[in-house]
Amino acid sequence: MKTLLIKNAFVIDPIQHISGETMDIAVRNGKIVDDVKNPDEVIDAQGMLTLPGGIDSHTHICGTKVNFGRYMSPEDMRAGRTSRKGDMHATAGYSVPTTYGNSYRYSRMGYTTLLEGAMAPMEARHTHEEFRYTPMQDCLANTLFDGNWFALQAIQDGDTKRLAGILAWYLSAAKGFGVKLTNPGGTEAWGFGKDVSCINDPIPNFDITPLEIIVKMIEANEMLNLPHSVHLHCNNLGKPGNYMCTLDTYDAIPDINDKRQSLYSTHVQFHSYGGSSWNDFCSKAEDIARSVNDKPHIVIDTGQVMFGKTTTMTADGPMEFNLYRLYHNKWSNHDIEMETGSGIIPVVYRKKNLVNAIMWAIGLELALLVDDPWRCILATDNPNGAPFVKYPEVMALLMSKEYRDKEFETLHKSTGRRVALPAIERELTWDEIAVMTRSAQARALGLIDYGKGYLSEGAEADIAIYPIDVDSTDPARDYERIINGFSTTEYTIKRGEVVCRRGTCTLEGNHSTYWVKPHVSPAYDMSKDAAFIDGFNRYYSIRRANYPVGEEYLGRNVCMETEASI
Ligand SMILES: [Zn+2]
Repeated sequence: MKTLLIKNAFVIDPIQHISGETMDIAVRNGKIVDDVKNPDEVIDAQGMLTLPGGIDSHTHICGTKVNFGRYMSPEDMRAGRTSRKGDMHATAGYSVPTTYGNSYRYSRMGYTTLLEGAMAPMEARHTHEEFRYTPMQDCLANTLFDGNWFALQAIQDGDTKRLAGILAWYLSAAKGFGVKLTNPGGTEAWGFGKDVSCINDPIPNFDITPLEIIVKMIEANEMLNLPHSVHLHCNNLGKPGNYMCTLDTYDAIPDINDKRQSLYSTHVQFHSYGGSSWNDFCSKAEDIARSVNDKPHIVIDTGQVMFGKTTTMTADGPMEFNLYRLYHNKWSNHDIEMETGSGIIPVVYRKKNLVNAIMWAIGLELALLVDDPWRCILATDNPNGAPFVKYPEVMALLMSKEYRDKEFETLHKSTGRRVALPAIERELTWDEIAVMTRSAQARALGLIDYGKGYLSEGAEADIAIYPIDVDSTDPARDYERIINGFSTTEYTIKRGEVVCRRGTCTLEGNHSTYWVKPHVSPAYDMSKDAAFIDGFNRYYSIRRANYPVGEEYLGRNVCMETEASI
């Protein structure tokens, strides 16, 4: 039983309403406890900002499309090479690093939990195998249902309970965590060379609309009592004028869970576009933020774009095809039978490109115009908007108007006429940054009950200690110090063990995969449902017995069991 005492830490822990108190943190056997006598290890954190471990609630780090992004871009592999050092493996890749590359770089920034944003259930094995080699973080996977034929059929039949039974079977089979919808209906249409442009378009082969998919999925999600809400990538991503589709979607979301949000809307920057073409493209972040401010049952993440090279990857196949027609760069698209699709394109976001400059401003505007930081999460949709290593720069931009203005000066000169950013004075506080990088994620994902996102007795000892002296740092002026301080922790602690010290990872963490297993009544158990079994055997190219991911693929794991109401 190992014990650790962190002395004199300057703690911000928004879940516990601790806003900058100097205190000691005691750890026994991976958990935070009241006190330890004669600790095995003592860390003096005098003058250092100490936060719960960072949580990324939407990132693409593991699985088939991530891996395809790696071997599509040998130049990206060469861009981020690090050699073997001590216990650390060699790594490669900049925007799509190897699994160890992702894990070490996140750990260096104090991140201890990661949600893979999109896992196709049929290809879940690959995601779980890569989770095993992401050793410094707990991992969870959003599971894609946007084009699932059994789910779409249940929605067409108006049978929400059956839909819930189908979600339960797939989540358990794929060892998934949350229900993800990517361009609902659009990925199904893409299988036939089509797309949908908004929530009321008909979907090929089914007499339903994207809106019906979204609302029924939310109802089914809550029938299963899942920790997380439906996680939605709205229709019409990345197109001028798409903000109307986003607003229409938000207006239709029911508020049906009194413990947390009913909808998590991801990478909203890509869904906040005005204009009728790229010629009159402009920001509509103010309209989107106003709508979010009015709807306490919606949580968003920003999907910030930062300048430089990266790789876009998403289940939104038709969107990637559109991007290919824009860039004529190398490109991949993939259809996943019965379930969803995907696409990958490397891109470069440039300061002197007006569209890119506006995109950059929109992400910041969202973070500054949504009043409640608990409902606006900081993320780049790694690597779509930017590689996650840019997070410290995003934090500094949000904390310093001076830094924003300085950056703004370097952009395409017409940017100011298309965005609201220069007029926004708000500078986020330390507490707000802590909320937007860990506490809000823990609440939105339903992980507080599992000891994540806070630092009091009973919590998992996932802790980030940054070399930032809050008392002597004015973030509005010292933005370089913010960037450096949040880039490399003094200590990153995972389940009570120091796993990273000043950027050197010293130990493979006690990491786990978290997955859900909803218990449903026999009437909704799809493993015994004749129509489901018959449809599965008839239409899938894989046998049903071979489909579920066995627990042996997961290594250490936490099964989150829920009692469904069906
Ligand atoms: Zn994503």
